[in-house]
This record gives sequence, C-alpha cells and structure tokens, in this order.
Amino acid sequence: MRIAIAGCGQLARMLALAGWEMGHQFSFIADPGEGTDCVAGLGLICTWDVHTPINELYDALGKPDVVTIEKEHVDITLMEGLAEHCLVAPSPDAIRACQHRGREKTLLQSLGIMTAPFHLVEDAPALIDAVNHVGYPAFVKSCEQGYDGQNQWHLRDDAALDALAAKMPTLPPLVVEGAVHFDRELSLIAARSVSGDIALYPLAENRHREGILLTSEVPAPNVSETTLEQATQIAHTLLEHWSYVGVLSIELFDEDGKLRVNELAPRVHNSGHWSQDAGVTSQFSNHIRAITDCRPGTTKLADYAGMVNLLGRSADHALLNAGDVSLHWYSKSIRSRRKVGHLNVQAKDRKQLQQRLAELEAALYPDNEPL
Ligand code: AMP
Repeated sequence: MRIAIAGCGQLARMLALAGWEMGHQFSFIADPGEGTDCVAGLGLICTWDVHTPINELYDALGKPDVVTIEKEHVDITLMEGLAEHCLVAPSPDAIRACQHRGREKTLLQSLGIMTAPFHLVEDAPALIDAVNHVGYPAFVKSCEQGYDGQNQWHLRDDAALDALAAKMPTLPPLVVEGAVHFDRELSLIAARSVSGDIALYPLAENRHREGILLTSEVPAPNVSETTLEQATQIAHTLLEHWSYVGVLSIELFDEDGKLRVNELAPRVHNSGHWSQDAGVTSQFSNHIRAITDCRPGTTKLADYAGMVNLLGRSADHALLNAGDVSLHWYSKSIRSRRKVGHLNVQAKDRKQLQQRLAELEAALYPDNEPL
C-alpha cells in the first residue's frame, strides 16, 4: 500500500522503517520550515500550507491508500480534506479531540473515565476561581500545543497565581488541574485495526526528568488484577467510542491502584519504543498493520524490557557495545533537552532490568545535572 504520514520526525521515521519491511511505500507531509532529516530517503516529502489545494497535495503524495499521523498537531481541515480521498487513520474526530486538553478531558469525563479535577479557563477571574477550587499545587496547561512540560505552569502559591493571572490576556485558553498525588506514572499502548481487532501492550512504568520522559520499564512492576482491568476498560471504551484505527497511547496516573488518565496521544508513543526490541510486534509495526487492516501482531513480551531516552546527547561506544542494548538514532542534530535517540535494553528478570536501567541512566546523565 501507499501510506502518507503527516509529520517528518522520529516517529514518522520509525513508522516508515517498520512499514518498509512489510513492503509498503511512504510519503510524508511536512509543515513549512519543518526539519525533514529523520525521514530523508524514506519517501517523497511534500510541504503543505493552507494555500495548497488538498487534491493537489493528495496527488503529489502519490495518491496514498491511507493517511496517518506521527503527531496530533496537524491541521484538521487538511485531515478532513484528505479523508474525502482515502482512509485517514486515526479519524479526524479522534485527532481533533486529542489536540486539545479541554476537549480531551471533557470527552473522558463524559465516558466515565477518571482524570485530574479540571476547569477550563480563558480569563484571569476564571483562572483565579479555578485555582481556588482545586487548591495548591495547581497544574495549569495550555489547551493546545503543549508537550514535554512546555506551556505549563506549576502554581504553588498566590504570588505565582497573580503573576500568571497578569499574563492572562496574552495567553491561549488554559486548563487548570488539581494535583494528583500519584504513586507512579504508567502508560498503555493500544492498537485497533480497521476490522475492529484490538491488542494491548503490557503497561509501562515511566519516569520523567524535568517534565520529559527519561525511562520506561516493562512490564510495570506490581500491577494488580484490578489495575489491569481498569486500564483495559479505559482502552476499550476509547477505542470503541471512536471506532479507532491505529495505535492509541494512554498516559495514566496510578494513585493507590486507581487509574486516572493524564493524557491521550492518537499515535505511537515514546513509552512504547521498548517494543522494537523485546520479542513482540513493535508499536510501529502494529500501527501499520492496524491501518492496513491486518490483525494486530502479538503484544506479549518475551523478556523484561526497558528504554532510556537520549536527551540532548549521544551514547558512547562503551554503552553501545553492550550486547543487551540496541540504539535507535533519529538523525537529528543534538540540542539541549532534544530527543535525539533512545536505547532499548532487555533483561532476563526484573532485578537485572532495573539494574541495567540505573547503570545506563547513570552513564548518560552523571551527577543528576540539569539536561
Ligand atoms: P503532561 O504534559 O500533562 O503530560 O504533564 C507533564 C508531567 O507533569 C506529567 O508526566 C506529571 O509528572 C506532571 N503532572 C501533570 N499534570 C499533573 C497533575 N494534575 N497532578 C500531578 N502531576 C501532574
């Protein structure tokens, strides 16, 4: 099949690499000025802006059978326009909901799925009211465009609230969240095919540094039956609500065994990268399988698996020389805090996995210095 991917970053690269192995052909939709190094050589790259007629773009992309995305921040009118020519998976509806924290949380609430307590605000009085309601600390996030902790404010006192309220006229719509006192952060990667077959990966336990994912450990330790049931229920509810096609990623807070959804991503996710090397069908292969209407491949884990992100740095030869480590490099230039690659590591048991993750993290990020 011909598959077009909106976006040209590392997720597009890894999707195309997985899809090439199945014989599919790729083209990519770039925003004006978007870096395209990650996907150079993997297919035709077409730049699109709002002035380009969508049928011209569709032709330039090689008349794809399916259009998919590597990021949720895509122009919805573009996705809707392309949907008149071919399958767009996931659907524009699902993408639209996940682009906007307010729409996303409102939908989750209407489906009976727990989130942090939240209020949507557009002006200073509403902001102050909402923070008074949820109390300190409060997490304030822009509804659109925030990721890896960007466009977020962690308010701990009235002074911080007043400072943010003063900026309110220049800020976009915000969501104010009460703090969830979680024990840990988990994520679930789910896939649903065109025909409705569903596969779920084991839960990952994720650790962040400065708001950016640093490591994932899979399967997450100490997952009770009820936690697993809640996660499964959440995934099925969402996938069936949208008749979703492709991979859907669900970030969760685990608060004493109760799960709340923090965020959804209508795409493959950094916390699923371990699946490239752990004896299962990778999340990238399963996304391609799902959108080309193949039943998802096995998501069962052969070993214990982990992932460490390379944030603004490469790994030296000594690390790469280890037999249990695989490098995935994104061909991006190195900048501070930028995700430029990741290391996957496998182990025969949990103790060994945790030890290897700690060793890799210590070697890559010595002395806990800022990223
Ligand atoms: P997000 O961009 O929404 O994924 O937030 C980035 C990180 O901030 C999360 O991974 C959590 O560690 C933390 N965080 C976000 N929202 C909350 C919340 N309501 N309560 C506690 N921690 C949060």
